[in-house]
Amino acid sequence: MTVERVLLAEPRGFCAGVEMAIKALTWMTRIFDGPVYCFHEIVHNEWVVRAFERVGVVFVDDIAEVPEGAPIMLSAHGSAPEVVEAAGDRAAVVIDAVCPLVTKVHHEVKQMSRKGFDIIYVGHTGHDEAVGTVAEAPSAISLVEPESGLGDFEAADPEKVALVAQTTLGLYEWQKVMDDALERFPKLKTARKSDLCYATTNRQDVVKQLASECDLVLVVGSHNSSNTQALVRVSHENGVAAHRIDSASDIKDDWLTDATTGASAPDHLVQDVIDRLSPVHGFDLWRATEEREYFPLPPQLRAFVTTLQQLVEAGLTASTPGSEPWIEGDRQWTATEALDLIST
Ligand code: SF4
Repeated sequence: MTVERVLLAEPRGFCAGVEMAIKALTWMTRIFDGPVYCFHEIVHNEWVVRAFERVGVVFVDDIAEVPEGAPIMLSAHGSAPEVVEAAGDRAAVVIDAVCPLVTKVHHEVKQMSRKGFDIIYVGHTGHDEAVGTVAEAPSAISLVEPESGLGDFEAADPEKVALVAQTTLGLYEWQKVMDDALERFPKLKTARKSDLCYATTNRQDVVKQLASECDLVLVVGSHNSSNTQALVRVSHENGVAAHRIDSASDIKDDWLTDATTGASAPDHLVQDVIDRLSPVHGFDLWRATEEREYFPLPPQLRAFVTTLQQLVEAGLTASTPGSEPWIEGDRQWTATEALDLIST
């Protein structure tokens, strides 16, 4: 297969939340001898999940599957309060790798529900993030699918309606629900800035730009990645064919050109795609913006690692961490390096 030219989206791949979650789980695998359990896929990328499974991480969808006293990590998508509580009752150590931008939406929901608002949550039924967020105030929230809109949503008091959203929706889909809600509820309460996260909006922006430059968009990411699916829809919305692929081997011979990735796909998969396409004129970066966001490791893990380091430095343990980074070096350490570490 040969194509003329490949435009490589920038930014693409791991967002700050995914970076943090992958590094956090890598730390867990290095700290604990026995299996580490992870509630839900740490991030929605099959390659990443398989890489962790190979080093003994067990992914579960029910905390009851975790043996008493085993270490548990909660995924980046955020967990329901009852899951956090059940994990705390069961595990010796619980590390919550929820992305801070998802936590922000959980806070909004709790706050609005305390104030007696009916909350419209725009999200995808059954998605891990939506399940965790709705569980913060189930009696106050109505989930509406972005594709279906407000439907028959009714508010007890039309002056007390709030709208929040899953962080990874298509911007144009969310905007439509928002406009409809504002028309029906002029006093609608919503976040000053949309709940759609920076990584979502940046990747959608770059796909929109690519759509005017190319014949086809390839989005590298897993089927259950909301971000990935939104990128495909954004491309379609902008009149350009798009396909989601897990890896280069999914590319069909009668497809052509450009590539981007969701917020949880490793970059080596993108390199494989470029190699498969083998562009005659090479590839060019199409940079829409620069991302500098960094999310520190979860506080529980930071405390854990810091204590461990103090023990090692005090000579109270025989082992040393070798070239592995300590907490201070976390900003410079990447999730790609973490995945390399567990894959060797
Ligand atoms: S896509 Fe956005 S909300 Fe989701 S983990 Fe990444 S930064 Fe956080």
